[in-house]
Amino acid sequence: MAETDQLGRPVQDLRVSLTDRCNFRCTYCMPREIFGPEYQFLPQEELLAFDEIARIARVFARMGVGKVRLTGGEPLLRQGIEDLIARLAAIEGIEDLSLTTNASLLAGKAEMLRQAGLHRVNVSLDSVDNATFRQVSDVNVSLERVLEGLEAAQRAGLEPVKVNAVIQRGVTDDGIEDLAAFARARGYTLRFIEYMDVGNTNGWKLDDVVPAREIVDRLEARWPLEAIEPAYPGEVAERYRYRDGAGEVGVIASVTQPFCGTCTRARLSAQGELFTCLFASQGQDLRGLLRRGADDAELEASLRGTWAARTDRYSRLRAVATTSQPKVEMSYIGG
Ligand code: SAM
Ligand code: SF4
Ligand code: SF4
Repeated sequence: MAETDQLGRPVQDLRVSLTDRCNFRCTYCMPREIFGPEYQFLPQEELLAFDEIARIARVFARMGVGKVRLTGGEPLLRQGIEDLIARLAAIEGIEDLSLTTNASLLAGKAEMLRQAGLHRVNVSLDSVDNATFRQVSDVNVSLERVLEGLEAAQRAGLEPVKVNAVIQRGVTDDGIEDLAAFARARGYTLRFIEYMDVGNTNGWKLDDVVPAREIVDRLEARWPLEAIEPAYPGEVAERYRYRDGAGEVGVIASVTQPFCGTCTRARLSAQGELFTCLFASQGQDLRGLLRRGADDAELEASLRGTWAARTDRYSRLRAVATTSQPKVEMSYIGG
C-alpha cells in the first residue's frame, strides 16, 4: 500500500548515494578549498553495503517506489556497481533504474551497466567549452572523455541519454545556446537546472541563479519552442519541443518555481541516512537499524512512520527561511 505524507504526497522515487567521494571538484558542489587532500571521506565500512541498499529499496518498492536513481559523489567510483544494479533491476515494482554521473568513467562502463540492467543515465555537463568545463569541474579531466562517455551511453542504449546543466550567472550562462545546439545535434535530452542553495560550502547567492524563464526566452529567440504537457503528475522539468523537430529541451526551476507540492522523493545517503528533503539538516539512521538486526517488517514500519510524518517544503519556504541553517551537502546526498 502506498504511503502518503502530511501534505498528501506519496513516496515514489528513491535516490541512493553510493559514495561521498568524487574525482571532480565542481566549484559549486565540492570546492577544493574544503574538499582538499586533508578532507576525511567515509571509510568503506561506513558505506551501506549492496545488500543493505537492496533491502531498503525492496521495502520502498512495497511502499510504492517505482523509480530508483543511483548518485553520489560520483557513483561510478563505487567498485562493483554492476552487482548492485543487477540486484535493484530484479526488484518487483522498480520500473525505472537510472544513474547520475559526471561521465568521466562512463565510456568504459556503459555497456556493462546496460547489461547489468541499468535503464538510462543522466550526465551532468555544464558547458561544452573546454576552458569553462575545466573551470567548473576544477579537475584535470578532458571534456573529450565526458563526450566519449555520452556517446558510449547512447551506443549501449541507455536512453534517453539526458544531459543536466547547472547554470550559474557569470560562469556558465554564456554557453546556454552552445549546450542546446550540442544536445540537439546529438539527440540528447537537455535539462537546464537552476543553481540551488544546497549545503553550506558553495557560497550561494540569489544573484548567481539564472531563472529558468530567462533560459527559455533565450532558447526561444534562437529556436522556436512549443510547451509539452507533463508526462506524469509531479514531473519536475518544464518541457519544450523544438518546433523544427530537433527533439526537446527542459528547465528545472527549483528556485524560482518550487515544486514541493508534488515532491515524492526520498534520499538515502552513502552511509545510510534517510533524508526526506534535499535541504534537510538531519536524516534517519537506517544503517544503524539494519545493523542492529531489524527485520524487513521493522524496517518497513520505520520507513512508513518517517514518510507519514513528513512535512518538508523547503523551497516553498525559502523566501522566508534563513539560508544559514546547517544543511546536508550535495556531494553527500547526490541531488
Ligand atoms: N557526480 C554525479 C554528477 O555530477 O552527475 C552525481 C552527483 S551530483 C551531486 C548530482 C547533480 O547535482 C549534478 O548534476 C550537479 O550538477 C548537481 N548539483 C550539485 N550542486 C548543485 C547546486 N548547488 N545546485 C544545483 N545542482 C547542483
Ligand atoms: Fe562531483 Fe557531481 Fe559534485 Fe561535480 S557535481 S563535484 S561531479 S558530485
Ligand atoms: Fe522536495 Fe525538499 Fe526540494 Fe521541496 S525543497 S522539492 S520538499 S526536496
